[in-house]
Amino acid sequence: MGNRVIPVTPFDQNCSLVWCDATKKAVVIDPGGDVAIIMAAIAQTGVTVEKIILTHGHLDHVGGSAALAAELNIPVWGPHPADQYWLDGLPRQSQMFGFPFTPALQPNQWLQEGEVIACGERQFEVIHCPGHTPGHVVLFDREAKQAWVGDVLFAGSVGRSDFPGGDHDTLVASIRDKLFPLGDDVSFIPGHGPDSTFGEERRSNPFVADRRFG
Ligand SMILES: [Zn+2]
Ligand SMILES: [Zn+2]
Repeated sequence: MGNRVIPVTPFDQNCSLVWCDATKKAVVIDPGGDVAIIMAAIAQTGVTVEKIILTHGHLDHVGGSAALAAELNIPVWGPHPADQYWLDGLPRQSQMFGFPFTPALQPNQWLQEGEVIACGERQFEVIHCPGHTPGHVVLFDREAKQAWVGDVLFAGSVGRSDFPGGDHDTLVASIRDKLFPLGDDVSFIPGHGPDSTFGEERRSNPFVADRRFG
């Protein structure tokens, strides 16, 4: 089972190319920009990308979606519909962050809690994890014990919650109640920075570590 992280945009966002070894079918998670670099990685890997999946509506995760979808003639799935206002606001986001103009995006399909997305012999469970944005979703491959968590959780930190629609307590609850129960041995790829495991964050992440008594 393959996973290749492709850092994109000035924010070094971790775009992921994820594929099934048996079928060479693949998905691209969060193509924030630098579409030529993503296309080169796809060509080098020799996989067939079936769809784009978005974790949430922030520009550094979404910005290359329309171009990549057009180039490969594939649909865009996600995030959860509560992030529609972020996708509608892409023109303003691109202005704010000094990105190339990015038009509003209408995904081909929204994602809901509990849905399962198939990619060859791999399966990605959709987990709705609000707090960074209200419509943020996490993708979980139960068999590979791997999760793509966008800006919900980072190695040693958690996502910002000071944007409109963000809420810190909701974010912490998403991590503790929905992600950590998936298992200490689950490794995750965050939207920015290095990989980690849920177990490591339970032990050492100052925002969400298990409370210690005595
Ligand atoms: Zn974000
Ligand atoms: Zn981000």
